[in-house]
Amino acid sequence: MYDYLIVGGGFAGCVIAERIASQLGKKVLIIDRRNHIAGNAHDYYDNNGILIHKYGPHIFHTSSKKVWDYLSNFTEWIPYEHTVMAVVNGKKVPVPFNLNSIEQVFPKKIASKYQALLLEKYGYGLKIPILKLLENKQEDLKVIADFIYQNIFYGYTLKQWGLKPEELDFSVTSRVPVFISHDNRYFQDTYQGIPEKGYTELFNKLIKNKNIEVLLNTDYKINSSSIKFNKLIYTGPIDEYFDYKFGKLPYRSLHFDFKTFKKEWFQEVAQVNYPNDFDYTRITEFKHFHRQKTKATTVAFEFPQEFELGKNEPYYPIQNVSNNDLYNRYKKESEKLKNTIFVGRLAEYKYYNMDQIVGVALMKFDKEIAK
Ligand SMILES: Cc1cc2nc3c(=O)[nH]c(=O)nc-3n(C[C@H](O)[C@H](O)[C@H](O)COP(=O)(O)OP(=O)(O)OC[C@H]3O[C@@H](n4cnc5c(N)ncnc54)[C@H](O)[C@@H]3O)c2cc1C
Repeated sequence: MYDYLIVGGGFAGCVIAERIASQLGKKVLIIDRRNHIAGNAHDYYDNNGILIHKYGPHIFHTSSKKVWDYLSNFTEWIPYEHTVMAVVNGKKVPVPFNLNSIEQVFPKKIASKYQALLLEKYGYGLKIPILKLLENKQEDLKVIADFIYQNIFYGYTLKQWGLKPEELDFSVTSRVPVFISHDNRYFQDTYQGIPEKGYTELFNKLIKNKNIEVLLNTDYKINSSSIKFNKLIYTGPIDEYFDYKFGKLPYRSLHFDFKTFKKEWFQEVAQVNYPNDFDYTRITEFKHFHRQKTKATTVAFEFPQEFELGKNEPYYPIQNVSNNDLYNRYKKESEKLKNTIFVGRLAEYKYYNMDQIVGVALMKFDKEIAK
């Protein structure tokens, strides 16, 4: 008999498992239907010895000292600050689009004019969501806003989400703002890095406790009746838990085309975006994260696609008013259940970054489990 059954071996499930096992000394079983732990943060070495992020590039960044200190108990970090370039009219420009990007795409005199206008209007260091920038009435600001919208956001969002930027929840489009700065880093958080030995190794340390057992290739829906437990922590899709009784929650999925090239480097940074060309949105070259020295290199071409149950993975919740309403109906149902906690990106239908879900898991433990 287990004190807790935890469905899902991603950050939400494993952080809570670690807390219960180490702080309460209770017995935990983690099950995951995949053949590995670490959820979407899972990484592995390919045939060329390159550490690959199986479900797309995962860069750790946070401004929460609590989260950083907590994870630092289980890993050392390689300092890594993510830089992203986007190909616009054949040129590679920094993303988030910033004052340096303007210099790359406009002749010097015009670039200076736009930079001065943006600095005057917003001040140095401000981050502005593109849809806010588009609200400008001043003629030149409208021109630069339209340029950025058309060349950086429109095509990328259409490929990524199958929707125009204005059809998405504001919280999604504002994740990558326009940055009035010369800072080319993708994130400005206080703490940034990649686990020294990779995410999977971090997870191995996280769940190394005599009170924790793990069963892989084990689906909750198929196996739960044969497992004896007192309380349930569920990090899988909330609509699936309730057998889709109100309907399916829509997700966006991805297909990764991994290719190895017999050359040392493929591109100058880990991530290059293609907002306007090709069917893929971005190419990730994994070697950059650990600065691995190998003769070959592996990259992933990332193709967004519709999520189809049983065919591909639910990656991103498509947050808009009607989908959030549907989620809230499931949430109400979940609140009626005793001894069951729903947490994580699939169970809460939220676009969580890793640091956010670690913070939420720690908070859930303190407030709802250890209380
Ligand atoms: C392409 C991509 C890139 C990302 N990049 C970053 C980044 O750079 N930085 C960042 O901070 N965050 C990033 N994220 C977000 C990050 O992946 C999430 O924050 C994190 O995975 C959330 O952890 P979780 O435990 O909630 O969910 P998951 O990691 O998805 O774990 C849930 C687990 O539950 C299992 N499960 C589901 N249903 C069942 C069931 N019925 N039975 C058994 N097991 C089940 C699943 O197999 C899965 O392993 C990215 C996400 C994606 C999709």
